[in-house]
Amino acid sequence: MKSSQPFDLTAELEHARRAVRAAALVTRAVQSDLVHASTLEKSDKSPVTVADFASQAVVAASLSRAGSAVRAMVGEEDAADLRGDDALTRRGQVVQHARGVLGADLSEDDVLGFIDMGGHTPPLDADGRSSGTYWTLDPIDGTKGFLRSEQYAIALALIHDGHVVLGALGCPRLPVGDESDEEGVLMLAARGLGASSEPLFRDGERRAIRVSAVEDASQARFCESVEAGHSDQDQSVQIAQALGITAPGLRMDSQAKYAGLSRGDASIYLRLPTRKDYQEKIWDHAAGLIVVEEAGGRVTDVRGAPLDFGRGSTLAGNAGVIATNGPIHDAVLAVVMRVLG
Ligand code: AMP
Ligand code: MG
Repeated sequence: MKSSQPFDLTAELEHARRAVRAAALVTRAVQSDLVHASTLEKSDKSPVTVADFASQAVVAASLSRAGSAVRAMVGEEDAADLRGDDALTRRGQVVQHARGVLGADLSEDDVLGFIDMGGHTPPLDADGRSSGTYWTLDPIDGTKGFLRSEQYAIALALIHDGHVVLGALGCPRLPVGDESDEEGVLMLAARGLGASSEPLFRDGERRAIRVSAVEDASQARFCESVEAGHSDQDQSVQIAQALGITAPGLRMDSQAKYAGLSRGDASIYLRLPTRKDYQEKIWDHAAGLIVVEEAGGRVTDVRGAPLDFGRGSTLAGNAGVIATNGPIHDAVLAVVMRVLG
């Protein structure tokens, strides 16, 4: 029997919206430090770690202070990594950045406590299935993009009994899409209520978004990861050729790919497994999936199966991801299955 929803969808969407907006301020602040600090090596991972933890603290604190009915969160970061003596400097930076958004009266314990909220592990039953209600968060999705000052995202979604019911996807470096060079887009979606887009860093008009209307796959633009290790880029070339696509693929880090798809910047997102044993993480797809679906698109894995969010913290039952505007999904899938064998 399906339990009734222990939360108000519209209220939680508003909490998620505010939480992601607040987190985006932190990640942007750390990123601008990064750009200005000439002493920092590009390969130095510490700034992204600081931003990751601060972002998770800010999201958890915002949800909690707003009175969210959902307290469990499956987050990518674990505060245990920040508690040790060797993390003293980093811990101080995280607290300082979190205070910048949450208020100067915040203690170190408060910050670590908020990060801990993301430590939920969905319990699995005897059949390997998870139920219940929890947030899932990627505080900085696309860390490589973050370090290159390119695309990254703050991705927050609510999962209820194995289904994504709402998502807030903040893309600090995505152009708002008008004639200006303004960046920062927030996409919101809730099951059955549609998807919308609004400016991430200021109050502005919230507009309904819709995937592209392309019905001929050869006319579609496709997007994929920048990282060749995250999606097979040789196979995507073969797939595009077989579909008759001549436009080059759009390479972007993070769930900004889902965001682009949801407003028609591209019509296909290919994520083709590079390793048999890799299980996609729920926080890498939950927010993006619901934004695309509520904007009219379709999301499956490379075999055409729906993404199954009822298997704990990974998409253990799936392989890769294919997302499209919908009308061309079956045609794309047929070619994907042929190329992947
Ligand atoms: P993207 O920016 O689309 O390349 O995706 C970034 C995400 O890819 C990260 O958050 C990782 O969780 C995830 N990731 C790491 N290794 C792999 C892999 N082998 N295949 C697919 N995704 C991966
Ligand atoms: Mg990620």
